[in-house]
Amino acid sequence: MAAFHFNPRLIKKHRSYLVPEAASACGVTSHTVYRWIKSGLTVCEDEGLTLILGRNLQPFLIQMRGRRKQRCGPGQLFCMRCNSPRVPIGRSATYRPKGATTGMLLGRCGQCGTPMFQACSLRKLIEVRLHLDVSMTNASPDIVDGSESLTNDDFPEGAN
Ligand SMILES: [Zn+2]
Repeated sequence: MAAFHFNPRLIKKHRSYLVPEAASACGVTSHTVYRWIKSGLTVCEDEGLTLILGRNLQPFLIQMRGRRKQRCGPGQLFCMRCNSPRVPIGRSATYRPKGATTGMLLGRCGQCGTPMFQACSLRKLIEVRLHLDVSMTNASPDIVDGSESLTNDDFPEGAN
């Protein structure tokens, strides 16, 4: 995957780029730009030419950069202050259910102590618990139901 370390703010909002121009402005290959187009970058067709407007390109790049940054590894939460994924203090977190199958995972950044939180499904919680010591809070009867059906799905009883 082509890493780009350039500043998306350098893209000029009011100009339009041909694919090779966009590629060189971003320091990537044209092939990469075509991949971006496939994955949702808006283009304009003008007399057979594919044009990318700076005002579309810039937010796309910012969004894509953010998406990559926010991809937390197992056992990590995203710290807004550090602006990167962090392992919580004591490798511990709290799960606060928000419904039958989803909730929030809360912890404190091991680096700076800032509270961190992110949405986490009960299904994902199983994986998180392999990496973190997760305590449950505000468990409601709904959640018990949810985790029971989850357990049944994952470990069918009587399947010898
Ligand atoms: Zn932090």
